Amino acid sequence: MNTSPLAGATQDEMRKRNLGSLLKHLHVNGTCPRSELTALTGLNRSTVGALTAELEEAGLVRSEQPIGRGVGRPSIMVAPARERAYVLTIDVGVEHASVALIGLGGWVQARRELPHVRGETPRKLIQRASRVIESLVATAAEGSVCVGIGVSVPGVVRHSDGLVRIAPNLGWIEVPLGSVIATVLRTTLPIAIANDADLTAIAEHARGAARGMSHVVLVSGDVGVGGGIIIDGELMTGAGGYGGEIGHMVVNPIDGRLCRCGSVGCWETTIGEQAVREALGDITETDVRSYLTTVPHGDPRLAEVGRWLGIGVANLVNICNPQAVVFGGIFGDVYRVVDDYVAEQLGKSLSAPVESLVLKQAALGPDSVSMGAAELAFLPLLSDPLGHLARCREVSAA
Ligand SMILES: [Zn+2]
Repeated sequence: MNTSPLAGATQDEMRKRNLGSLLKHLHVNGTCPRSELTALTGLNRSTVGALTAELEEAGLVRSEQPIGRGVGRPSIMVAPARERAYVLTIDVGVEHASVALIGLGGWVQARRELPHVRGETPRKLIQRASRVIESLVATAAEGSVCVGIGVSVPGVVRHSDGLVRIAPNLGWIEVPLGSVIATVLRTTLPIAIANDADLTAIAEHARGAARGMSHVVLVSGDVGVGGGIIIDGELMTGAGGYGGEIGHMVVNPIDGRLCRCGSVGCWETTIGEQAVREALGDITETDVRSYLTTVPHGDPRLAEVGRWLGIGVANLVNICNPQAVVFGGIFGDVYRVVDDYVAEQLGKSLSAPVESLVLKQAALGPDSVSMGAAELAFLPLLSDPLGHLARCREVSAA
């Protein structure tokens, strides 16, 4: 037997990776037969049995007897222990904020909205959220462990440390949100912070309209226009984490409008909520989304918005060649009305990238941002289940 430290480390790495991929499969796909895990990993049956036993002993999965009779010996079912390991999510929105506890497998255990207080400092907001978080955590199952915190912000976020560079609709500039949260919540748990549209893309890719696809563009937002681009199954972040700002793609620099970013004729100024409201005329409803549900398909009032939407989508399709473009936020409702105008613009662009393209509405609804934040917060657990769980248990015991 090779007992060199290197061989040991390699074996340990391998075991960690195998435990991670088993748990990830269960987290994304839910309960499945142990034979499916064997096929997935390419490991032999007894190794998979030993690995699932380790995960079960740690409280991350549970084995269940199969239901029904099949041909041959039925395989034991393995399920993620969704109430035993959870993440905390904080969704900072323009009109609202919400906090949630989300368990393994994407199970939303509890979610609570916070009223919006205009002009509130980040610290005040997190202090207010902390009281709600405390009451939610009190409802978590006994013996359960919080394994991370995921935070969503409608702004430009530096991935390395969660510094919010700018969130124009919140009026935040250079806010060290990660350290504010760690201080107020008095925690050393890992805190992952990202842009809300990026998180919606992660959620729709993991559990929604783009499940199973590897190349996806998500167009999302309301006041602002955000984007999340999935390339080869991974979110495209760019060097600093600022990639995917598709709302500021300049489409009409000659006679376009001034954008809040300082540029002229950004895509956002042609398709964002303000443009939609103006195109619809004098709408008294404060909630443009509920008004949009009453707008008939092909309504000519939205023809121009539809054409601009199509022009931007055609640009993105030429650059990224995605399998799907998914419309979230108000764009799910807008797209339902203007799909023909969008198709007309796509018909004028290069034909090859459009051949197998699917355009669709997002599937997850208002929970999508929190679900994406949860996916991000679960990553450390899914890459080293037992090690990360042990570290989090120490944190919660401290
Ligand atoms: Zn702009």
